[in-house]
Amino acid sequence: MESAETIVIVGAGQAGYWATQTLRKQGYGGRIVLVGSEPHPPYERPPLSKQVLKGETEPPSTWLATPDRLAELNTEFLSGRTAIALDRRGRHVELHDGTRIGYDRLLLTTGARPRRLSIPSQSDAAVFYLRDIADSLALRERLATARHVIVIGGGLIGLEVAAAATARSCSVTVIEAADRLMSRVVGPEISAHFAELHRARGTEILSGRMPERIEAGGPGCRICFRGGDSCDGDLAVVGIGVIPNAELAAAAGLKVENGLWVDEFCRTEDPNIWAAGDVTNHLNPLLGRRLRLETWQNAQNQAIAAARNMCGEPQAYSEVPWGWSDQLGVNLQLLGVPRSFDQAIARGDPASGSFTLFYLDGDRIAGVNAVNAPKDIAVARRLMAGNVTVDPQRLRDPAVPLRSLLS
Ligand SMILES: Cc1cc2nc3c(=O)[nH]c(=O)nc-3n(C[C@H](O)[C@H](O)[C@H](O)COP(=O)(O)OP(=O)(O)OC[C@H]3O[C@@H](n4cnc5c(N)ncnc54)[C@H](O)[C@@H]3O)c2cc1C
Repeated sequence: MESAETIVIVGAGQAGYWATQTLRKQGYGGRIVLVGSEPHPPYERPPLSKQVLKGETEPPSTWLATPDRLAELNTEFLSGRTAIALDRRGRHVELHDGTRIGYDRLLLTTGARPRRLSIPSQSDAAVFYLRDIADSLALRERLATARHVIVIGGGLIGLEVAAAATARSCSVTVIEAADRLMSRVVGPEISAHFAELHRARGTEILSGRMPERIEAGGPGCRICFRGGDSCDGDLAVVGIGVIPNAELAAAAGLKVENGLWVDEFCRTEDPNIWAAGDVTNHLNPLLGRRLRLETWQNAQNQAIAAARNMCGEPQAYSEVPWGWSDQLGVNLQLLGVPRSFDQAIARGDPASGSFTLFYLDGDRIAGVNAVNAPKDIAVARRLMAGNVTVDPQRLRDPAVPLRSLLS
């Protein structure tokens, strides 16, 4: 259906693409303008710390759509263009080159950027961050000649980089401020399992350590700790979390607190503005609380929900949060974001390399960490979405099919 309306989408990443595609699927016939800072078409980031970094695939394989496909979707794709101001009263966005684009409805899918180290550094050229294609290619090139890599931050991205560096024959030291790896997203049992896997490949893990400054010593950089000790590497890769790109929204007076606030229908407090993806702090009705997620699932599915809501089809975005990581040939999948739990139930034997940890809050599953056990995740997602009560004895017994707990 033809319409004289304009929808502007700021942020041409994963969420921006899925919103564009869904608007057309919903039959929206007006103008769509997709604005993105990067020079590439919208793409998926997970391979950047995995296959692309290891040299197994090239960046175009990550593209969600070619420029031709965007043209087919009748979308004006403005690449390499950054929105620098949002005028809610005048309903337009201003780009860095001075262009103004008016909108009837606006979707913000501006994502997030890496948190930077806030310690003195004399060696910026040897310090890498990883968010986009350019970062991944620059790091990949450096890994080709590096011998020792220091990873600052033992979270998902840091450990994927450590795994890729190992695959490229580098030795690795991981420095983690907490007392265990991936502490923000997995339970202690999984941290210990992955620490063992990385150590078995020769990686040194320094936990409970905080770098104090970076010097230009050694082969590339020297990471100095309080107390006087240090470690040298050809380069350091920093993975210490992300900051939502919510400044545009905040400057326009929208509520930003650990992300841009939206409700379960992806609406901001401005009736003409929606948001989706990493930038949002959203209400999840299933969990009954607010979340800020940094996952592929959220970027895609919240954007689809946002586009449907923008087309007038009310659809709450209400899913069990899910994410994954691949390290050293091992697949880790995560369900839920438990704030607390009463007991952890293990199903399967960690020594076999395939097992699942269920974190129970009372008699319900609050979170799941599965190692090489994707089938457990499929059933656990249904148990969690249905808020099904479970018997811990049956849950831990591999002789009891997980599916039988559904009934
Ligand atoms: C290396 C890496 C590996 C990952 N691996 C996994 C994984 O294994 N599993 C998983 O579940 N998730 C993974 N993720 C997370 C997942 O990729 C993100 O959650 C997802 O990309 C978020 O999509 P988004 O569209 O919200 O934001 P983004 O992908 O960040 O896209 C936002 C886009 O908006 C642009 N932009 C920002 N501000 C402006 C502006 N003012 N004007 C114009 N454009 C702007 C940005 O340049 C960017 O291109 C990974 C992320 C990274 C970086």
